[in-house]
Amino acid sequence: MKPAQVMVVTPHPDDAEFGVAGTAARWAQEGKQIVYVVCTNGDKGTSDNNMKPEDLARIREKEQMAAARLLGVREVIFLRHPDQSLEDTAEFRKEIVRLIRVYRPETIVTADPYRRYVWHRDHRITGQVTLDAVFPYARDLFSYPDLIEEGLQPHKVRELLFWAADDVNYRSNITDTFHLKVAALRCHESQVGHIPPPQLEEWLRERHRELAEGEEFQLAEAFHRVEITR
Ligand SMILES: [Zn+2]
Repeated sequence: MKPAQVMVVTPHPDDAEFGVAGTAARWAQEGKQIVYVVCTNGDKGTSDNNMKPEDLARIREKEQMAAARLLGVREVIFLRHPDQSLEDTAEFRKEIVRLIRVYRPETIVTADPYRRYVWHRDHRITGQVTLDAVFPYARDLFSYPDLIEEGLQPHKVRELLFWAADDVNYRSNITDTFHLKVAALRCHESQVGHIPPPQLEEWLRERHRELAEGEEFQLAEAFHRVEITR
């Protein structure tokens, strides 16, 4: 498995598209290697009585693959935990550490664990576990002797970007890739299929225009950015 500069750790299929698709598309155009890690199978993301959870999981994997292909994401890894099941456990943390040590990204993008009040538990847990996996568990030599034995050496991630942050400190220009973000989101038919395409695009445009306020560019994705210097 080849190293990748960017790893995106997403709780459900579609969260990465809402959070970082415009930026990911720009990075891909710049030649960066991007890997998606999809933590849950999203099998509870419907209000359709006729849908079976296992069918939904299958559909959402296909939707996620289509979106990733469109954005230029190199690889998608599905951890396939059930939707609404993520917990801050040693096992889940180690799963993320292992992937960090395999792909050795400079940047990791995930959900902000510190968003206040109404916030999906899977999002909060994914952000928290990823942050802990980056620092100190992936970095430290003696964290997992068995991973070292497998040849998975410690790795220092340089930068974390959290989407949906209450305290935004970094805005990324997506003006030129906004159309790809919209198209990638439309791949998630099971989630956004009920919204007429022009309405979805208008809603997104408005949202990303607001996020670009104060910047010289028109449309932005916004993050809390943490540089890891230790
Ligand atoms: Zn989600």
